[in-house]
Amino acid sequence: MMSSTSERVELSIVVPVYNEEQNLDYLFERLEAVVHNLKMSYEIVCINDGSRDDTLKYLIAHHERNPQIKVINLARNFGKEIALTAGLDYTTGNAVVPIDADLQDPPELIGQLIEKWREGYDVVYATRRSRQGESWLKRFTASAFYNIIDRMSLVHVPANTGDFRLLDRRVVEALKHVPERTRFMKGLFAWVGFKQTSVLFDREARHKGKTTWNYWKLWNFALDGIFSFSFIPLKMWSYVGLVVSFMSLLYASFLIIRTIIQGVDVPGYASLMVAILFLGGIQLITLGIVGEYIGRVYEEVKGRPIYLIRDLYGLPPHSNHPPRRGYTAEFPKEH
Ligand code: UDP
Ligand code: MG
Repeated sequence: MMSSTSERVELSIVVPVYNEEQNLDYLFERLEAVVHNLKMSYEIVCINDGSRDDTLKYLIAHHERNPQIKVINLARNFGKEIALTAGLDYTTGNAVVPIDADLQDPPELIGQLIEKWREGYDVVYATRRSRQGESWLKRFTASAFYNIIDRMSLVHVPANTGDFRLLDRRVVEALKHVPERTRFMKGLFAWVGFKQTSVLFDREARHKGKTTWNYWKLWNFALDGIFSFSFIPLKMWSYVGLVVSFMSLLYASFLIIRTIIQGVDVPGYASLMVAILFLGGIQLITLGIVGEYIGRVYEEVKGRPIYLIRDLYGLPPHSNHPPRRGYTAEFPKEH
């Protein structure tokens, strides 16, 4: 399956980058110190996710200084999950470590991840013991989200765990066979299974710049996670329907009996309005939920490639990504 043009390395580090020009120098300084100490052959695959600042210029400069720093320049901003997918598709390492560019995930932890990997684990995730520089609301919503997804989906998505983890080559190859577009990576990493363990760390605040995640984006991200890993929102309406029908039946019997005993009763505006509004509301919610799934089915059925690549620096043009997953311009410029 591996392409023969790319030279295999022991460790691949994958960094999705979006508007991170202020962080890159410090990021590579720390990453290079870490890989230097590890004495392993390595590559650092950076994905420029359509940055609007000078991130690409900086990345190319670093690539020219150190050819082990390789760059995938996506055609536009595809979002972190897809950028990460593109990066994973291009790695060759026996161990692969996705890491954020803003240094919230300490590169120094990679040594510990590798130790666990050498003990025989396939996935070693880094779990946050604490989160610095994040508001009370962000911490609260994050923990609520992990709780909900854990209850609703069949796979166990570990709480307080981002994308910072170590993946064995086996896992990366397995992930290549997951064709879906809604790439909720935390869920996919858990879904593949394999032998998993964790290492604890303290999550620091961003080095420079600010997060691009606002609550609306996080809310949609959470919905992606829930709808692509659980059918409960779809299924529960049958039960709600059952309960409501049963209650209506009781109420109907009550009305019939009362009419028989007391005769026709004209006033009834309140109960009518309540029933109509309540049922109307439930029907709209149900339609909305069904719509969420249909929208996702439509997205998948269109079968568009998940990402488009504009340029590659230090990587072979024809990667080993699965067909119809990513697309690289037919005649990429040689860099
Ligand atoms: N990122 C990306 N594409 C995006 C948004 C973010 O590749 O559209 C990258 C970003 O450069 C960083 C990582 O994803 O390396 C995490 O982003 P951020 O720090 O904004 O998220 P948070 O730490 O708040 O979850
Ligand atoms: Mg961050």
